[in-house]
Amino acid sequence: MPTWILHTEFKFDAAHYIDGYDGKCGRMHGHTYKVHMKAKSHKLNPSAYLKTSDMVCDFKELKWAAKDSERGGFDHGVLNDLMQENTTAERIAEYIHQETKKRIPSGIELEVTVWETETSWVSYTDNDV
Ligand SMILES: [Zn+2]
Repeated sequence: MPTWILHTEFKFDAAHYIDGYDGKCGRMHGHTYKVHMKAKSHKLNPSAYLKTSDMVCDFKELKWAAKDSERGGFDHGVLNDLMQENTTAERIAEYIHQETKKRIPSGIELEVTVWETETSWVSYTDNDV
């Protein structure tokens, strides 16, 4: 079966605290988060910028979270103000996954990996195999 797997990475700087955490992570602090997006599809699609079906999806749509927090992304924002869920790396990955799914064509398997530090990261997908 023809299969395309798109990969892209981006970073954003953000402040957060983990609500209810008994320790220093419960206090406001910052990270440079790194995010890896993996999008797998068996067909190609058009996008807002390309009418013909020649893309899995637009890289721009996978990188929305890198945008300024005053323009709909996470950069230089306070994550606790930008999402309802607690701001663990697990929940950030889940949130980015859910919000990205709304912006890309259906039928794409998405995996979102979020690094909170260089040595600690988590992946989220809704397609357990
Ligand atoms: Zn933290």
